[in-house]
Amino acid sequence: MLKGEKCEETPLLGEGKLCLDFVNTVDWRNSKTRKKEMLHDFSALISWSKQIGILEDKTAQILFKKALKQPNKAKRVYEKTIELRELLYRIFSSMVTTDQAPSHDLSIFNKYLADSMGKSCCLIPSANGFAWSFCSETDSMDLFLDPIIKSAADLLVSPHLKRVKQCADDACGWLFMDKSRNSSRRWCSMKDCGNRAKAHRHYLRKRQGKKERSVTGVVSVQ
Ligand SMILES: [Zn+2]
Repeated sequence: MLKGEKCEETPLLGEGKLCLDFVNTVDWRNSKTRKKEMLHDFSALISWSKQIGILEDKTAQILFKKALKQPNKAKRVYEKTIELRELLYRIFSSMVTTDQAPSHDLSIFNKYLADSMGKSCCLIPSANGFAWSFCSETDSMDLFLDPIIKSAADLLVSPHLKRVKQCADDACGWLFMDKSRNSSRRWCSMKDCGNRAKAHRHYLRKRQGKKERSVTGVVSVQ
């Protein structure tokens, strides 16, 4: 099964930090030919937010209805969301490769952060103690951005930032948290990119073996 097909059917629930799951809503990010957008429009954005657990059903329904009544506003929110996603991708991927974030991108993110923190948020009891709850009392259509922004800010100031890596597959481009004991994980998923790399290495070894045998005349290959 193709990577893109799997991802659309199975959102990355519990697979990593919310902000990284959000950044990974582009499949084959680094491929010119296979790059695939998973969030096509405002509706897809709301569906994803619901699936990932940052929007309740009731709120999602309200946003769907608002989008029908105010399509231009929904489009602007959608564009703003995709801009945020690409901004986060640049910041995190740059941290992976250079240990620095582009200063211009960081200042834009800080504006998103200031806007978000200015809204009403509070702590609510949760299974592990407390959790952030974001409540918008305004007519906001972008309230699903708040937990994503909070997640990104939390990760950026966390020691776990060092654990963020980018998949070793040239075309994949997904970011992930390396939770391995010796920080040796290379692939976003062993079932996906890892297996493909393994199969490719196996193929190369077999091909090399055939060539060598052919040279020595032991095995005849075409
Ligand atoms: Zn990958």
